[in-house]
Amino acid sequence: MNRQCQPCTACCDGWVQITVKGCEAYPGHPCPHSTGQGCDDYLNRPVQPCQTFECSWVKAGSALPEHLKPSESGALVIDGILKWQGLSVDLAVPVGREIPPATLDWLKEFAERTLRPLIYQQQDPDSKLLQKNPLTLAYGPPAFQQWVLEQQAQGKTLW
Ligand code: SF4
Ligand code: SF4
Repeated sequence: MNRQCQPCTACCDGWVQITVKGCEAYPGHPCPHSTGQGCDDYLNRPVQPCQTFECSWVKAGSALPEHLKPSESGALVIDGILKWQGLSVDLAVPVGREIPPATLDWLKEFAERTLRPLIYQQQDPDSKLLQKNPLTLAYGPPAFQQWVLEQQAQGKTLW
């Protein structure tokens, strides 16, 4: 049975950066059509990104368990955001300021078990305001963590 988004609206609420009809959504800045419980213009939602976006949890055949639903776990996962040395790398963004510790522990264990390095984000604890670009951290082999640090030091985007 396919998983259903409702009542989750995490991807509409800006926790992952999207552009909808030219309007950017990012942390602290939801899509203007999000009611927090759904979309007030659902029938007219654009194909990109609204009709095509699927987080890792909602995808058919998802490897994530029920309790990793973004609205419950506090993390929105996008699988295979990039490749590193032939390995698929997953991205986890917080639904809120940071991913709850139990969820992050699960994601790290999953990364180890499946050999999928993890990139995860959190808001800067020193800033009370939500940042458009949260801090980006890496979990995986030391060489992967080093590579992420180097990309960031060079000002390169990771995905
Ligand atoms: S984050 Fe995932 S489960 Fe939540 S609304 Fe978006 S696609 Fe659906
Ligand atoms: S238009 Fe609707 S479906 Fe698309 S991001 Fe906004 S609230 Fe979500």
